[in-house]
Amino acid sequence: MKKISEIRKSFFGDKYVIFAPKRGLRPHKISEEDAKRKEQFKENCFFCPGPDEDKAVYKIDVGGKWLVKVVENKFPALSLTNKKAYGKQEIVIDTPNHGEDFCDLSPEHIRTVLDVYAARIKAINELENINYVQVFKNDGGKAGASIPHAHSQIIGLEYIPHHMMADTMAMDKYCCENGSCAYCDIIKKELKEKERIVFDDDNVVALCPWASSSPYALWVLPKAHKNKLEDLTPEERLSIAKALKIATSRLDTEEIPYNFFIHDSLPHNDHHFRLKIASRMNVWGGFEIGSGVIINPVFPEDAADFYKK
Ligand SMILES: [Zn+2]
Ligand SMILES: [Zn+2]
Repeated sequence: MKKISEIRKSFFGDKYVIFAPKRGLRPHKISEEDAKRKEQFKENCFFCPGPDEDKAVYKIDVGGKWLVKVVENKFPALSLTNKKAYGKQEIVIDTPNHGEDFCDLSPEHIRTVLDVYAARIKAINELENINYVQVFKNDGGKAGASIPHAHSQIIGLEYIPHHMMADTMAMDKYCCENGSCAYCDIIKKELKEKERIVFDDDNVVALCPWASSSPYALWVLPKAHKNKLEDLTPEERLSIAKALKIATSRLDTEEIPYNFFIHDSLPHNDHHFRLKIASRMNVWGGFEIGSGVIINPVFPEDAADFYKK
């Protein structure tokens, strides 16, 4: 385990992270709260199958019953009818079984969830005036999950968020300077150096990034340069599902709340697809909020060891 602080610059772009292992972790014990909330919501859960269940916008059935279902967000901040807050929000119900966590699903089931994400990203992108679609999961109370039945969310926006635009411009700058894709180069470099690799098969690699901005941050990347989840083969999606299962199981065992996000290339761009996991155990202090410089108590090399345990 690394013990001396170190400032690292991200592989591309100009983000800096201060790794300071001495600060120690400030874990949040959330499992008891989560368990209690799960029980409270079990009755009248409108994500559970039953007479009152929400109408499906889209679903994948197995044996005559839905396995993964998409519904409208009942309490949306954005809608297609509100010109002042235009957008589209949907919920992906990952499983019909209340109490089953995302990490409990089989890799094949997780692949089905990914298939549903791909179908809905495509459909929402085709809506009028939607220019950006984000799929994300909040797992654990501190990560923003409000309903304990396993689900993910999709938001379609009229505009491209600043964060995504900045990321895209940094990737373009890297490509201009080096003549290659930043993520393809990261994959090559990391596979050679090995110490930050968590999962590696013929199709994908999962790694803890060199200058990770959250403890246990993990990127899952297809080895082939592909732009979108929709473009990935069933085999590639299954490999992503396997990496996700390993990572989320480990985080759940240690009661670490997390988010993950799907980053397709922006439309008309040629950027590498990536799925990113961020833990939510590190509460940002005044320095992080004020300066944008992150202090991370867990080096990615130690995070990779954590996932491989
Ligand atoms: Zn439920
Ligand atoms: Zn690439």
